[in-house]
Amino acid sequence: MIRSLSSFIFATGLLVSQPTPASRPVAKQGCVFCQIVAGTAPARKVLENDRVLAFWDIAPRAKYHLLVIPKQHATSMADLASLPGETKAALLDACLKVAQDCGFNEQGFRVITNAGADANQTVFHLHFHVVGGEKLPEDAVRVKPKRYSCCQQPLER
Ligand code: AMP
Ligand code: ZN
Repeated sequence: MIRSLSSFIFATGLLVSQPTPASRPVAKQGCVFCQIVAGTAPARKVLENDRVLAFWDIAPRAKYHLLVIPKQHATSMADLASLPGETKAALLDACLKVAQDCGFNEQGFRVITNAGADANQTVFHLHFHVVGGEKLPEDAVRVKPKRYSCCQQPLER
């Protein structure tokens, strides 16, 4: 009786908190990055696991310019809450791993994500640009020149 109860608890996972399994990626129709995940659009892949995919940007703006995306569709960082915690962690891990695998992690590299219109996001599937392999321009966050106060609020618009 005790043995069957404990195997029931074990089998149902009542005692052990299990990581959320990576389910089949939720795709958004017409999304080019979902098509890359599904294999219906081409990409030069550099890393893939059950949660994330990394591939070369089609128009590289540095010696290495890779994109790291979740396989599950999310629009941008603003939509991050729609992703399981394991996928969020996998995205950050993948940003570092591609830099290591491509051999530019030690010299330095940059991870950028654009979210929404003000950031000029053009592909509305969350992605991290991982750029490196050469000396990058000093100012990665180019904004129209403005005077900022110490609390970073623009003084004028
Ligand atoms: P963002 O402007 O931050 O939304 O970045 C979108 C990036 O996706 C740009 O750097 C594009 O060059 C890149 N891109 C667009 N379509 C593709 C594609 N089919 N394969 C690889 N990269 C792409
Ligand atoms: Zn998508």
